[in-house]
Amino acid sequence: MNYRHMLSLVALGTIGTLQGQNAPYWQQKVDYKMEVNMDVKNYQYTGKQELTYTNNAPDTLKVVFYHLFLNAFQPGSEMDIRLQNILDPDSRMVTKKEVDGKTIKESRIASLKPEEIGYLKVNNLTQDGTPVKYHTEGTILKVELNKPIAPHSSTVFRMDFAGQAPVMIRRTGRNSPDGVALSMSQWYPKLAEYDYRGWNTSEYIGREFYGVWGNFDVKITLDKDYIVGGSGYLQNKNEIGFGYEDTGVKVPKVKGNTRTWHFYAPMVHDFTWAADPQFIHDKLDAGDGVTLHFLYKKYPEIWKRIQGDMLKTFEFYNQFVGPYPWQQYSFIQGGDGGMEYAMCTLIKGEDDYRSLLGTAIHELGHAWFQHILASDETLYPWLDEGFTTYIQDLATSRITGEAPFVSLYRSYDRYVKSKYEETPTHHSDRFNTNYAYSTSAYVKGSLFLRQLEYIIGEKQVEKTLQLYFKKFAFKHPQPHDLIRCAEEVSGMQLGWYLNEFMQTPDHVDYAVDKVEGKGAQTQITLRRVGRVPLPVDVFVVDKSGKTHYCYIPLRMQFGQKANPYSYERQVFPDWGWAYPTYSFEVAIPFENIQKVIIDPYHISTDIDRSNDTFQP
Ligand SMILES: [Zn+2]
Repeated sequence: MNYRHMLSLVALGTIGTLQGQNAPYWQQKVDYKMEVNMDVKNYQYTGKQELTYTNNAPDTLKVVFYHLFLNAFQPGSEMDIRLQNILDPDSRMVTKKEVDGKTIKESRIASLKPEEIGYLKVNNLTQDGTPVKYHTEGTILKVELNKPIAPHSSTVFRMDFAGQAPVMIRRTGRNSPDGVALSMSQWYPKLAEYDYRGWNTSEYIGREFYGVWGNFDVKITLDKDYIVGGSGYLQNKNEIGFGYEDTGVKVPKVKGNTRTWHFYAPMVHDFTWAADPQFIHDKLDAGDGVTLHFLYKKYPEIWKRIQGDMLKTFEFYNQFVGPYPWQQYSFIQGGDGGMEYAMCTLIKGEDDYRSLLGTAIHELGHAWFQHILASDETLYPWLDEGFTTYIQDLATSRITGEAPFVSLYRSYDRYVKSKYEETPTHHSDRFNTNYAYSTSAYVKGSLFLRQLEYIIGEKQVEKTLQLYFKKFAFKHPQPHDLIRCAEEVSGMQLGWYLNEFMQTPDHVDYAVDKVEGKGAQTQITLRRVGRVPLPVDVFVVDKSGKTHYCYIPLRMQFGQKANPYSYERQVFPDWGWAYPTYSFEVAIPFENIQKVIIDPYHISTDIDRSNDTFQP
């Protein structure tokens, strides 16, 4: 089926979505209608929100929760206190000060004045026309319902809210480092997700997001000179005199001081926008009805130059993972680094081409791993950051010719040797350091897939991602869903891999233990030093320079990968997990052995390469 056609069916709710072994899969749905008025002088806005919430859970809901993310940008918030206590605070969120010859890092949130903070205030809230009781704790609003929401029924919430875009501390707010006036992410009261685990009510401390799928209809009224870009399709380009087709055309005069931009974003789980009176707008036809938009004001040469490379990257992701289902994607200058949103990204300008290229390739990858495959970033940041980094490296190598994954292995090795490594099963806000969070999410998460190539083969990993996309687009996949796809594609048992590599503090380390002559044969003994088991590739090179590829499958994988090398392969009996060593014989006399080497192309994450090789 044409994927875009499928999107419209999903949006209409005509496709039943089933998955899993025991319970049928379900997910909540919420449709937003919002009208906001932004005062560009004091960064304050008021809004009306109408939200139609459909409870697809088998449970009756007596309460609902919303996120009020902007409340994090206030002195004394958990985000502020966390900044003051974490060992390695994000450099964007602190100011450095010299005190008695020591560098002290101070939270920028702690010193925000009332007119600089962020806030979201709910002024009244009704459920199906009747006021409900609610209260706010930090960044979470709890609502006690008058009328419980029965399974498979809908209810309508209406609220008035007021907000203030903070001085930019992290991701969102006013006057980005590039001077973009408004970077409006996490800017509206957002319904929390309810899934089989219950309500996701994580306080906003710094880390990422998890949202409810639905349609967003958003009208933004602001100063007539501002140009707006973001999630969704512009509905009234003729009326407001700004066509997304009219590249570079000056906005015509309008009556009054404001204009209203009307956007509609079907089947997304967030809505973000940015605005500036000096935005330059370019667009590129990406084929199949999709347009790439670029909105920027600083470093125009670099932002022009990147467009062709983004088209190549877009084409690669479409073919490698699956077809992009919406008709537009926007690269918008804004924010404080690079951050993915529905149908768009906000990226800091960057005066260095390679740096902007890396960020833009990464953020575009998130259109797939987060905005189509919407895993829970608070619990499994590696599922989107790691997988995005994996396809980012593949896309980058196609553009720059750089070898993929090399720097990732280096980062992982450094991390393992550091004293900061943590098991990637923490909630993403609970890691002791930002370093541990980011290395486990981005680096270990991408090497999870890379190492899966070692187990099932490179082509099979590509097929696994395609199946994962096909089965879980517009859903909330979990780590085991990816594993089940890999099992389906490879015919192997792989549950052990998720557990051993991502849910324990353990490592991969295989060693060549002994190599000895046995008449005309040579016996090779390997040792599993690390606790994470893997199948093993061994190259035995004889003195004529000929390579003999020996493959030892892991017993619990119940299968063999296809031979990835051009050398002839000998498959040996399985190695069971409990056996610390494994011996096998090759038909080469010991005197004729030049070298024995485990995992010769370093595809596994083996943490000690010094014991991988034997040379007589
Ligand atoms: Zn990312």
